Order: sequence, then C-alpha cells, then structure tokens
Amino acid sequence: MSTPATTSLTICVPSPMSDASAPPNEAGRRGLEPEGVGSEEEGSLSCATRTPYHLDPMAIRDEDVIDVTPTRLTRGESLMLPSIFKGLGTTLRHCFENIGRGGSNKKNIWVLQYPEQKRDDRPVEEGGQYRPYFRGVHRLNKDEDGRVRCVACFMCATACPANCIHIVADESPWADREKYPKQFDIDELRCIYCGMCEEACPVDAIELTPHYEVTGLSRQELIFDKAKLLQVYDETIGEKPM
Ligand code: SF4
Ligand code: SF4
Repeated sequence: MSTPATTSLTICVPSPMSDASAPPNEAGRRGLEPEGVGSEEEGSLSCATRTPYHLDPMAIRDEDVIDVTPTRLTRGESLMLPSIFKGLGTTLRHCFENIGRGGSNKKNIWVLQYPEQKRDDRPVEEGGQYRPYFRGVHRLNKDEDGRVRCVACFMCATACPANCIHIVADESPWADREKYPKQFDIDELRCIYCGMCEEACPVDAIELTPHYEVTGLSRQELIFDKAKLLQVYDETIGEKPM
C-alpha cells in the first residue's frame, strides 16, 4: 500500500512534550529545527514533515531586522544649545521675512484674514478647502415638486454614531410614499460631520454642504429643525450636485 504524498509546507506545532527550555535556534523559533534534524519519535514536533527555514513564509531574514537601540548623545548634543539656537534662528527668519508684509508671505507664514478672506478662496494646493468633498452643515433636499425628499425611514438616525438626528414620522399626505418627517432635527453641535447619514439615505434626502460657519448664541439655535434644513437647501442648491 502506497503512503499519501505530504507537502513540505505543513505547519508544524510543537507538542507539549517538547523541551520549552531549549535555546532558540538561528530563526528565533524554539523547538523548530531544520529538515532532517531530530525526529518525530524524539517528541520535538507533532507533525510528520518539517518546514525548512528557506520555505517558511514567516521567517525574518537577518538583513530585514532594524536595530533601534538609541545611540548615545555627543557632548554637544547633550547641552541642547545647538538645537535651541537653530530653533530660534528659524523663528527669527520667519519674523524678519514677514515684517511689513501683513502675513502675506506664502513661503513662511501665510495668514488668513478671516472673515474677509476664507480658505474657500484659496486653491487646494495652497491650503484651500476642497469644496466638492467637504462635509459641513446639513441640508434636507427637496424633490422636483418642492416637497421634502425624506421618506422618514430612519436610516440616517440609525447610522449616526453621534446620535444627533431626531425624527418624528407621520403618515404622508402624498400618494407616492407612506411616510414623511413631521419633525426632523439635527444637533449641529453634537454632530461630528462624518457623513454617515448622507451615505445611509436611500433617497438622497440628507446631504452635507461645504458650509462650515455654524454660529449662534445658544445651543438651541444650533439644533437645526426641518424648516432650517430646507432653508439651507434653498441657499445652497447651486453649490453641490446631488
Ligand atoms: S454627519 Fe455623522 S454625526 Fe453628523 S448627523 Fe450625519 S451621521 Fe450623525
Ligand atoms: S433623510 Fe434619508 S435616511 Fe434619513 S429618514 Fe429621511 S429618507 Fe431616511
């Protein structure tokens, strides 16, 4: 009777009988020895075949090992003075190069005179805002008939990790849907602007606009209700395609 062929890449598991106190071999693996060394009868391995090191996909070659032992500081480095003067030099260079330029030196310090200037006005390469992908204040979209698109399915509220969407659903007055949001509130201060609500919405009813200036005198003002979210849609309708 012929014995079935075995592959040389069989994973070898040290048996409980193996000598755990044995020193690690050159591959750093205790108890795993090159092919042909030791035997199953000796109790060192519980599998029929051994994996040669050069075929072991997990083996780490000596040239791949990076020595991260910290080097000793030289006497000059341990005084820290060169680094301190280098840092002061950078600060002074930036200071002198910007004198009289009002922070308009692109090379060093380029100040944004907000709110007269905004990041929106700058190219992306110069630190500007990339508006198509920016996630700012929400809006509730309207359909072609001017009705709120939302069908009160609660997908956005379920997906929201900050739990800041509150919806009250009611029977829809229109024949093409079962429900509509009688109340739809988003706490813009609690929101983390992750965009999960936008992703979860099956009818593209909720969307994040590029607008980031959320200001108010009370927390209550920044809980945007349905009317406010529809107003944001009217104000931003031309800015971000659905
Ligand atoms: S952007 Fe994220 S945190 Fe904000 S309402 Fe949508 S799902 Fe919630
Ligand atoms: S905004 Fe979209 S996801 Fe949220 S309840 Fe309305 S239809 Fe559902």
